[in-house]
Amino acid sequence: MTLQFFNTLGRELQSFQPITPGKVGLYTCGPTVYNYAHIGNLRTYVFEDILRRALEYAGYEVSHVMNVTDVGHLTDDADDGEDKVEKSAREQGRSVWEIAEHYTQAFFSDIDRLNIEQPSIVCRATSHIQDMIELIQRIEARGYTYLAGGNVYFDVSKFERYGELALLNRQQLQPGARIEVDPNKRNPQDFVLWFTEGKFKNQTMVWDSPWGRGYPGWHIECSAMSMKYLGERFDIHTGGVDHVPVHHTNEIAQSEAATGKQWVNYWLHGEFLVMSGDKMSKSKGEFVTLSSLEDQGYDALDYRYACLGGHYRSQLQFGPEVIGAARSARRRLVDAVEELKAELGAGAEQLSRREAAEALEGAAAEWRDTFRSHLATDLALPQCLADLHGVLKDEQLSAEERLALVLDMDRVFGLEFTRSAASGFSAEEIAEIEGLITERTEARRARDFAKADRIRDDLAVRGVVLEDRPDGTHWKPS
Ligand code: AMP
Ligand code: ZN
Repeated sequence: MTLQFFNTLGRELQSFQPITPGKVGLYTCGPTVYNYAHIGNLRTYVFEDILRRALEYAGYEVSHVMNVTDVGHLTDDADDGEDKVEKSAREQGRSVWEIAEHYTQAFFSDIDRLNIEQPSIVCRATSHIQDMIELIQRIEARGYTYLAGGNVYFDVSKFERYGELALLNRQQLQPGARIEVDPNKRNPQDFVLWFTEGKFKNQTMVWDSPWGRGYPGWHIECSAMSMKYLGERFDIHTGGVDHVPVHHTNEIAQSEAATGKQWVNYWLHGEFLVMSGDKMSKSKGEFVTLSSLEDQGYDALDYRYACLGGHYRSQLQFGPEVIGAARSARRRLVDAVEELKAELGAGAEQLSRREAAEALEGAAAEWRDTFRSHLATDLALPQCLADLHGVLKDEQLSAEERLALVLDMDRVFGLEFTRSAASGFSAEEIAEIEGLITERTEARRARDFAKADRIRDDLAVRGVVLEDRPDGTHWKPS
């Protein structure tokens, strides 16, 4: 199975060839832990999980490294503003370490509930300061840096291919092209590798370095840690599209300046989740978290399903109708799979083995191959999902064939059909529950509180908890 990916570097679909046959080095930029991840961030991690699962499905052994940014990410990508973790600590009256720990835990709990596979290596920026210092020294020794105002800057004019990833043209790289420019910078795109106390007097996370006591710029951590764990050249690097023009562009410049060779072969970027036409972002304050969806009675996997419905390179519109439709569709799938399992009894277990899919013949083998070719074409997940639904509807297929195909596809979808069936309600039950909630709302409007309470009690007996909020009644399993 040859996978093809749309490589941001070069903007074209390319066949994937790993550096070492059978193995893949994958680096995914992780969270900045100063707040909860919102579902936009989580969309990017679901995309990266699908990528990893697709690579594993295609038979590769994947070394997946993810960083945790707990220092150095400023409120402004152009090196202005203040460290995000420090700011959050000040606002919440907690230490920077408590903030980082709290939001790191919350993040890993989120990705666990979304059935995202844990990276092979998770590395915190604050545990790798020495690696960053050594990398900056290499960049310095090769003449790509200058000191100004106490900080170490990377000089982009020295790096011939600067901006190739983002297709930045020379015009955009002229000094003064941006309105606000750090006066220490020789070129507006120059960026900080190491800050000293000169810049922020009150920074609590600081370390000694050859340039003075201070802390690293945001970009250097990803170069230092990825090279440490994956080598100086590796296969795939990913993140959200917002990382293309600054973060990833700078990561490439400093890594390749240090080693003198190409760093990463394939760059994949996930598009944004948008709500009411706007990118969801932590800095805008108002955002949706996975827990808030769960509080409204949705399962984390409903959100995972919603992500599968859009191609990773297209924006995903989010709203109550999207998550509602995802829940109903996922429930229907779970019910269909449960029915197949019940029909097949003890034989069902065997079908989850990989060999069961490989042994398929005829129409079933065609479905399997269609699914694989959709997956191999730049992870065409909406088509893959259509294949899943198609298999369940195809009456030519036996129950065994259908279940073998569904379980094989679920290696990539990660919808955990078994787990979800055990914890939730069927599509019919959900429709009934929602009907009763509407009836109760009408009863309350008509001031028939006895009837409204009766409905609430009946639902409680069935394991449904109601919560009345200004925007309506929400429910969740008890
Ligand atoms: P952060 O924790 O802010 O460093 O972001 C974590 C990841 O989420 C990065 O890969 C971002 O590119 C990505 N991201 C940020 N906002 C969105 C969004 N609205 N939709 C999808 N991905 C996003
Ligand atoms: Zn990064």
